[in-house]
Amino acid sequence: MQPMIEKITSDIWLLTGKRKGRYPHSHSLYLRAGGGVLVDCGSNWSEIETLAEQEGIAAVLMSHYHEDHFLYLHRLPETEVWASLADAPALESMDALEDCARAGTNWARSFRRIMQKRFNYRPRPVARRIQHGENLSIGNLQVEAIVAPGHTPGHLCLHFPAEGILFLGDYDLTDFGPWYGDRRSSMEQFRTSGAMLADIGAKINVVSHQQAIHRGDIHQQMTTYLQHIDRREEALCAFLRRPRSKEEIIARRIVFGEQCRGAWFDYGEWALMSKHLEKLMQSGEVIELEGHYQCL
Ligand SMILES: [Zn+2]
Repeated sequence: MQPMIEKITSDIWLLTGKRKGRYPHSHSLYLRAGGGVLVDCGSNWSEIETLAEQEGIAAVLMSHYHEDHFLYLHRLPETEVWASLADAPALESMDALEDCARAGTNWARSFRRIMQKRFNYRPRPVARRIQHGENLSIGNLQVEAIVAPGHTPGHLCLHFPAEGILFLGDYDLTDFGPWYGDRRSSMEQFRTSGAMLADIGAKINVVSHQQAIHRGDIHQQMTTYLQHIDRREEALCAFLRRPRSKEEIIARRIVFGEQCRGAWFDYGEWALMSKHLEKLMQSGEVIELEGHYQCL
C-alpha cells in the first residue's frame, strides 16, 4: 500500500487523498514551514489530525472553493484560512458559494443542503487574500502564487522555484478531463491556464486527484487532458444533428457516461454541456428553437 504521507522534499509533503484522491476527496500538500501550512483539506482526516498534533497546522491554504477541497475544513475551526482574492468570498458565505455554482437546474435547489450536510460547508473568514504573482514567504519556503482561472475564477496554483515543484490543483491531468462548469468558469481560460502551467516546466508537478505526482515535462499530458474539451464538443455537435431538448442532452451523458445516474450527475452534465452550448450558439454553429438545440 502507498504511504499516505510522502515527503517530496524535507519540507513539502504530499497527503494522498482517500480513494486515490478521487472525488469527493482530493490530495493535500503539507508545507512544513511557518508553523505548518496545509494546502487543501479534503484528503484524509486521520492523517490531517496526526499532522496537526505532531507538526502543527497554522493555516489552511485553499486552492479554490470546491467541496472536495474543503471537506474536512470544519474540523479545524480555529485555523486561519488563506485563499485567492477571487475565490475567497465563496469560502466566506453560502450565498457567494451558491452564486458560483450554476443556478437554474433542479439540482440547485438542494445545493445548500448538500454542501452543509454532505460536505460540511461552514462559512470561514479568509484571513489572508492572495494575489497572482505574490511571493509567499512561508518560513524558509519561497512560494510563488499563480492564479490560474478557468476551473474557478481564482484557482490558486503554487510554484516552488527553488525545489522545482509546481502544485496544479484541479488542472489535474486525469482521464476524466477538465471541469469548467461553474458560473464563472471558462473553457478558454482553462486552456490558457493549462498551457501556462505546462510551460512553467517544473521538475515535479503535483495535482489534486488520482496520480498525484507527474515528473518532468507535462506538455503531452496537458495536451491530451485539454483535448477532452474538444471531444465533448464534437460529441455534442454530433448529437445535435437533430433537435434535442435540454433533458435529452443531459440524459445522453456525454461527459459522465451512462453509468452515472441521478440528479447530482444531471447537474454536472448540464453545467459542462451548457458551457459548450453557449459557445456554439455565440458562434452561430447551434441554434435554439422552442427549447430544442440543433447544430447547423
Ligand atoms: Zn475543483
